[in-house]
Amino acid sequence: MSVKGALLVSLAADFAARRHADQRRKGASREPYVNHLTEVASLLAEATAGQDAELIAAGYLHDTLEDTETEYEELQTHFGKSVAKLVSEVTDDKSLPKAERKRLQVVYTPKKSRRARLLKLADKTSNLRSLATSPPADWNNKRAAEYVDWSEKVVSGCRGLNRDLEEAFDAAASEARAALGARVERKRK
Ligand code: ZN
Repeated sequence: MSVKGALLVSLAADFAARRHADQRRKGASREPYVNHLTEVASLLAEATAGQDAELIAAGYLHDTLEDTETEYEELQTHFGKSVAKLVSEVTDDKSLPKAERKRLQVVYTPKKSRRARLLKLADKTSNLRSLATSPPADWNNKRAAEYVDWSEKVVSGCRGLNRDLEEAFDAAASEARAALGARVERKRK
């Protein structure tokens, strides 16, 4: 990565940490939200051997439009047009009902740019890892299992791009399913 690239990634991490400062993950351990962003950015950095600074920066920023008071123009001003476009590519239309947004992710993900699909793959990997280690307290097993199924459907549109990321996702999906199975077992006893 170039000096310029390192600067971009560092500024993106700082921007994202500030914007998500008061947010926590849904899981029972209420991890700081920024842990999700560092995980997604690190997965992308490793999978691309640190070559694609814009993709790593977008990894940090990928939830700013959806979950914080951040405008597209702001991202464009600070991080340039391709980072802003990449973030907007992985942003759901929040005016739509949740079920419709989830359905559209399955439909549109295969049509997205290569970098957007890599970002999706890293995002879903992080989310399933969290589901395995710290599931939301108010989710029953059915809801968690449906979430794993849906993630796999979205990710089926991201395959064939990067083996490391795919393997990380598949491992996270098995971990999540194993954790669900363990929960069912404990309840039976
Ligand atoms: Zn995310």
